[in-house]
Amino acid sequence: AKQEGRNTYRYHTDALSIAANERLVLETQLRQALSAGEFVLHYQPLIDARKGQVMGVEALVRWQPPDKAMVSPGKFIPIAEETGLIVPLGEWVLRTACAQGRAWMDAGFPPFVMAVNLSVRQFQSENLVELIRQVLEETKLPAVCLELELTESMFMEHAEQSIEILKTLKSLGVRLAIDDFGTGYSSLTYLKRFPIDKLKIDQSFVHGLAYDPNDREIAATIIAMARNLKLDVLAEGVESEQQLDILNQHGCDYYQGYLFHRPVPAQELEVWFRENKRN
Ligand code: C2E
Ligand code: CA
Ligand code: CA
Ligand code: CA
Repeated sequence: AKQEGRNTYRYHTDALSIAANERLVLETQLRQALSAGEFVLHYQPLIDARKGQVMGVEALVRWQPPDKAMVSPGKFIPIAEETGLIVPLGEWVLRTACAQGRAWMDAGFPPFVMAVNLSVRQFQSENLVELIRQVLEETKLPAVCLELELTESMFMEHAEQSIEILKTLKSLGVRLAIDDFGTGYSSLTYLKRFPIDKLKIDQSFVHGLAYDPNDREIAATIIAMARNLKLDVLAEGVESEQQLDILNQHGCDYYQGYLFHRPVPAQELEVWFRENKRN
């Protein structure tokens, strides 16, 4: 069993354990990596429980330096955030993911959702809406096929302003999801006012489902809350049948996790799509 602890915790230790000079080196390397085209996207299926089908994929960025091991985003996203490099990197991610989504449509795969993570900086950037509009136009991906993943922490500080941004994003026709849900402090009142489509239950609660009554309670509460607010609900990090059973009992709609598929390069996923195609 891979118990990696709370996701957020792992994230912070990764960021903090890197010494200052090492960070500076990393920052320079990241800049070069972006211009050298060393970033790649992996895609992980999002499963519709009722239909037993893929409803979409999440795009997850990796850094592949030549002749070296692949670097996971936990290692470089925090630094990219701090330095502002996340803005051009995030733009590349958005464009690449949308183009891939369109390519899969054109190849005859059933239309599904392409989920893309947005960072705090991107969310606060003034031209976010314009960028998304432009990328959709360029790539010809239908807006309903793009799902933006945001975290609660992004809108808690300037809630009113955030609602406006979310409404503008929504007016483009894209879908909005709250990532790592349960780790922040969203009040129900706000949640109700946010024009969101989906809650993604943080994987830290999913990990403990089989043995921790608190995690089970939290997951059940989130699922019930989503139902009341008429939002889709997805459980992240599903690794075992036991976790899946418990989530199913509570009426969870969507799943993502190693039990179904790991994040893999686009070509590898296409093989799987073909094998799982139901006609
Ligand atoms: P996240 O958005 O919460 O993404 C889910 C993470 O859980 C991914 O880690 C995924 O590989 C991992 N995961 C999926 N299923 C399982 C499972 O069954 N068990 C376990 N233990 N893990 C699972 P990854 O790819 O290392 O990404 C880590 C984080 O880096 C992401 O967390 C997200 O916050 C950030 N990230 C990744 N790509 C991007 C990006 O393009 N832009 C931004 N801003 N952040 C990104
Ligand atoms: Ca995510
Ligand atoms: Ca997440
Ligand atoms: Ca996370």
